[in-house]
Amino acid sequence: MSFSERLIAWYRNNKRDLPWRNTNNAYLIWLSEIILQQTRVEQGLPYYLRFADAYPDVKSFANASEDQILKMWQGLGYYSRGRNMLKTAKVVQNEFNGVFPVAYADLITLTGIGEYTAAAISSFSSNEAKAVVDGNVYRVIARYFGVATPINSTSGKKEFQAIADNLLNRDNAGEHNQAMIEFGALQCKPKNPDCPVCPFQSSCYAYQHQKTNELPVKLKKLKIRERFFYFFIIHNKEEILIKRRDNNDIWAGLHDLPSIEFKERTGLEMVFSDPNFNQWFNDKSVIQKTSEEIKHVLTHQRLYARFVHIENFNLNAIEKNGWLKIKKDNLSDYGMPKLIFEYLKNFLN
Ligand code: SF4
Repeated sequence: MSFSERLIAWYRNNKRDLPWRNTNNAYLIWLSEIILQQTRVEQGLPYYLRFADAYPDVKSFANASEDQILKMWQGLGYYSRGRNMLKTAKVVQNEFNGVFPVAYADLITLTGIGEYTAAAISSFSSNEAKAVVDGNVYRVIARYFGVATPINSTSGKKEFQAIADNLLNRDNAGEHNQAMIEFGALQCKPKNPDCPVCPFQSSCYAYQHQKTNELPVKLKKLKIRERFFYFFIIHNKEEILIKRRDNNDIWAGLHDLPSIEFKERTGLEMVFSDPNFNQWFNDKSVIQKTSEEIKHVLTHQRLYARFVHIENFNLNAIEKNGWLKIKKDNLSDYGMPKLIFEYLKNFLN
């Protein structure tokens, strides 16, 4: 029995029943693949179901507004995915006559679709013979073949892709690829792989050499950046000021609050001497209260946020800098980072 035959036999007996597995609709597969990037299946599944329900085809997705998409995306993180999806849906609508492409060569030209996603969509939807390589596949290959090249190095990427291409069952590429991913997710797990009941046990390098904990090898991560924010809740009875974030930082395009950022943890006295604070308020007595520090973890950043409440303020006096004055009741119409939305929701309710 070949590697692929054994793998697919395992898959048929063990796979999870997930909605995007029961379709060859490239649009729905694309939806699931983008949602599942950097996201666990349990977390991504409800989002997939909501999106597929609200936007059952690429036309309906392309006609949505960015705010509608980001609002539905809220809490999933990596918001550029949502924005890129909208761009891609519009391109498919306009340049592919609304038919989601299934060929790797077309898919790879679309925004937000890299080699992995193009291989996944083309093989799952039309059985195109393109091998997928994601974190699961890296792990399975590194352990089974004993490959110690770092998976996040340039040479490692090439080496693992070549091995995956070689293993691919060209007559059944879609199922083979799904099986590789599922095998890595359920059987050859990052911690405590289920080696005692693994069909590859007798020929697996890592198992035979007790190296499952050492493989795969990864180069050390980038340093985590720490950032310290004061967010200002400037509001009166019915309205509040928010602002749209620019595109060169975290939460690009979402809405948050006027804020001042510091490189290190600082007390309110530093806020009072900040030029922005003085330009906006010119008087520290406007502050009604300040929240405890809230820690918010992103992939390469740790945010430490405090919320400063400015109440009963004449919003017209400082409604500038591109800030928006909105009704508090309409807050949920704006895509916001979870950190900001949760705080405001608790505070305003
Ligand atoms: S024997 Fe263990 S390490 Fe090897 S492929 Fe199976 S689960 Fe992975």
